Amino acid sequence: MYISCWFCVMESQQNGPLCLKNEPKIVIIGAGISGLAAAEHLAKSGFSDFVILEASGRTGGRIYTVELVDKVILHFDEAITEPDVFRLELLWDSDNVEINDLRHTWYRKIYSFEIIYDNVLVVSHFCAHIKVCQILNMVIFPELYIVHSCMFIIAWLSGKEALYMESLTEEQVGQDLVEVLKKILRKTDIPQPSKVTRTRWGNNPNTRGSYSFIQVGATVQDIEVLADPIVGSESDKPQIMFAGEATHLSMYSTTHGALLTGYREAKRIVDMYSH
Ligand SMILES: Cc1cc2nc3c(=O)[nH]c(=O)nc-3n(C[C@H](O)[C@H](O)[C@H](O)COP(=O)(O)OP(=O)(O)OC[C@H]3O[C@@H](n4cnc5c(N)ncnc54)[C@H](O)[C@@H]3O)c2cc1C
Repeated sequence: MYISCWFCVMESQQNGPLCLKNEPKIVIIGAGISGLAAAEHLAKSGFSDFVILEASGRTGGRIYTVELVDKVILHFDEAITEPDVFRLELLWDSDNVEINDLRHTWYRKIYSFEIIYDNVLVVSHFCAHIKVCQILNMVIFPELYIVHSCMFIIAWLSGKEALYMESLTEEQVGQDLVEVLKKILRKTDIPQPSKVTRTRWGNNPNTRGSYSFIQVGATVQDIEVLADPIVGSESDKPQIMFAGEATHLSMYSTTHGALLTGYREAKRIVDMYSH
């Protein structure tokens, strides 16, 4: 198992800043988000005797674009699918591409649309809201009224198609995806989205890689073992500490999890050496 960032703490004889008892020398291995977060927390807490060692030529670790994944979010003011539809899976026929250039094929990289409804209101038919529901033309089921006041459709795409999408205007992206939705839903009356939001990671120089997962047979207890600091033989204090996304009990695999583990380990040091 790979641990993204670790710390080596060496006891120092010199006194550090006022708030510190014997500021230790600290080596942070890895300048991914967890290592940088730890450094930030240490600096803010008055520590200055630390270095970050990074094997690659740049900071940011896996936050870096090599293979590109983008997301496009279409905002609709009204629901355009049935209320019980939460995902649309797409199967593209690669033999029947009418015009074989990215302008007409970029959206074929999208394999699914995730649907999120906002302001969902579920009312039992005994409820006094019946009239309101009828006036608003809501979907009426025998037992429930389900009201969707607006919805978001999220599409993921990768590779050169994603990079091409980034070169289009948001309006064009919206128009192209509405055409796709019309085809797969077999509807002609889908309005243009009120807003299109999309990532443009391919145009951002600071974002890369893979992330940890819990293998079949493993448990969160294994993460606890990974995150356990090592206490040196000549000290009762931990001397090697482990951060990185794979050491967060619930938010492993994520940037925010990595960030929090950096803060966690830095705080451990601060607590050990502050008055
Ligand atoms: C394709 C992809 C999509 C993702 N999407 C999301 C997302 O949508 N949302 C989300 O929250 N997270 C996402 N993640 C996860 C997120 O990017 C990572 O969890 C996070 O960046 C990990 O940070 P880290 O500090 O733990 O490790 P890293 O970023 O891996 O940092 C470790 C650093 O240590 C350095 N290093 C390694 N060994 C040594 C050594 N011996 N000496 C010195 N330096 C060394 C490495 O070069 C690297 O810079 C995604 C990841 C990938 C790969």
